[in-house]
Amino acid sequence: MNDSFDMIVIGAGPAGEKAAAQAAFYGKRVAVVDRAASPGGSAVQSAGVPTKTLRETALYLTGFRRRDTYGLSLQLLPSLALERLLARTAEVIATRTASVQANLDRNRVQLLRGQARLGPGPSVIVRSEDGSERTLRAGVVLIATGSRPLRPPEIPFEDPDVHDPESIIGLDRIPRSMVVVGGGPVGCEYASVFTALGVEVTLLDLADRLLPFMDTEISDVLARAFVGMGMRLALGSGVGTVARVGGQLRVTLASGERLHPEKVLFAAGRAGSTEGLGLPEAGVKTDARGRIVVDETYRTTAEGIYAAGDVIGPPALASVSMEQGRVAATHAFGIAFKQTLDPLPPYGIYSIPEAAMVGMTEQAARAAGIDCEVGRGWFEHSPRAQIAGATEGLVKLVFRRDDRRLLGVHIVGEIAGELIHQGQGAIGAGEPIDTFIDRTFNLPTFSETYKYAAYDGLQRLEGKQP
Ligand SMILES: Cc1cc2nc3c(=O)[nH]c(=O)nc-3n(C[C@H](O)[C@H](O)[C@H](O)COP(=O)(O)OP(=O)(O)OC[C@H]3O[C@@H](n4cnc5c(N)ncnc54)[C@H](O)[C@@H]3O)c2cc1C
Repeated sequence: MNDSFDMIVIGAGPAGEKAAAQAAFYGKRVAVVDRAASPGGSAVQSAGVPTKTLRETALYLTGFRRRDTYGLSLQLLPSLALERLLARTAEVIATRTASVQANLDRNRVQLLRGQARLGPGPSVIVRSEDGSERTLRAGVVLIATGSRPLRPPEIPFEDPDVHDPESIIGLDRIPRSMVVVGGGPVGCEYASVFTALGVEVTLLDLADRLLPFMDTEISDVLARAFVGMGMRLALGSGVGTVARVGGQLRVTLASGERLHPEKVLFAAGRAGSTEGLGLPEAGVKTDARGRIVVDETYRTTAEGIYAAGDVIGPPALASVSMEQGRVAATHAFGIAFKQTLDPLPPYGIYSIPEAAMVGMTEQAARAAGIDCEVGRGWFEHSPRAQIAGATEGLVKLVFRRDDRRLLGVHIVGEIAGELIHQGQGAIGAGEPIDTFIDRTFNLPTFSETYKYAAYDGLQRLEGKQP
């Protein structure tokens, strides 16, 4: 077997897969090494795909989305619900894994299984399960090893009822109660999905609001929606200790309050997967938080070695990781295609309800000294939302007062993750909010809410709104 390649990618997650396919598409001989049994990375095997499948299945099985509209919610036997949830999740993981494998095959990328580390050269040493090693040589090495959940030593993860966001996927039962630690995207997603499944959820965070990077108003609407679903929020309250005492799990909050949930999900933070890669020996620098340092072309501090995806730090999204991988590949080989990363990536939070954002929040615009105004469109006035019984939602536009140029879009509610792309397009094109007033939207649609948010903004400019 020939062990020389143009590029070796370590990690077959979103960053690695797309980088490999990009380089191979332009005729490069590429190998991808992954230690996992199947390609796709955490995105497919334990993070984004499983959580979103769990969410859709929970919504479908419980009739949660439309329970108020039709006056019914389905009561499934918990054991049956768990079986369906896990079966459906496994099905979708298998389908997505096959898609990733097909993409690699189509582009003639070799997928090798094993634990990889950097060797001299650049080269990559691959250790197989039987302990044998093979050295691969390449002009370019891309590190795309992703991240893993943070597991602080004081949290007893050895307890079968204390989970991180990956182990929770293999849940053994649907508990009656759960404490979720972490009000970030992952914590919000799981907390709302388990609430929809009828679990008594308490969501804790040190911060005094959910999703602190999002527009304050969106965090507030989301918090109200969560409480309306029956979730308890304990914001501004850190977790003191988690312990099993007298056969029961006991979570003590910083305030001294004690909770006794059946399960704990610790979903606060991730760390780059760089252990055992031999970064210092290869001259690849990391920052104080262990993230690989790269320049704008994704080159590390070592000749011929690039890095992309979660392993280089935030935003730690599959969507952005894929783009970083593609851009890294084009730079590594001087391919005149896709040379820069989109400066305006959207963020989607797949909680119930969904939330999404692109561009500046109102708070960020004001902090930057921009004379800005906002426009709000509420789903409760949308015919589509009324028909669907999904009237909880807001489209918020942030724009400059002088030329009405759109700076940010913030959405909470049904299909927020889809709707956000219209705002992304308008901000990217430098358009004013008038663009939504001038367009004809299909009726009835959730998208039409953009138009009413823009009208609201114009009225505020004229002082006709409170
Ligand atoms: C619960 C959850 C939900 C999420 N939901 C979303 C979402 O909805 N949308 C979104 O955009 N993002 C989401 N994310 C983030 C997304 O999963 C990550 O940003 C993405 O997976 C990062 O891709 P990556 O290619 O950098 O790494 P990964 O997907 O982590 O893949 C890294 C791969 O490298 C392999 N590897 C690591 N070290 C070695 C080694 N030494 N040798 C060989 N192989 C190695 C691993 O086995 C793995 O397959 C979510 C994350 C979590 C935790």
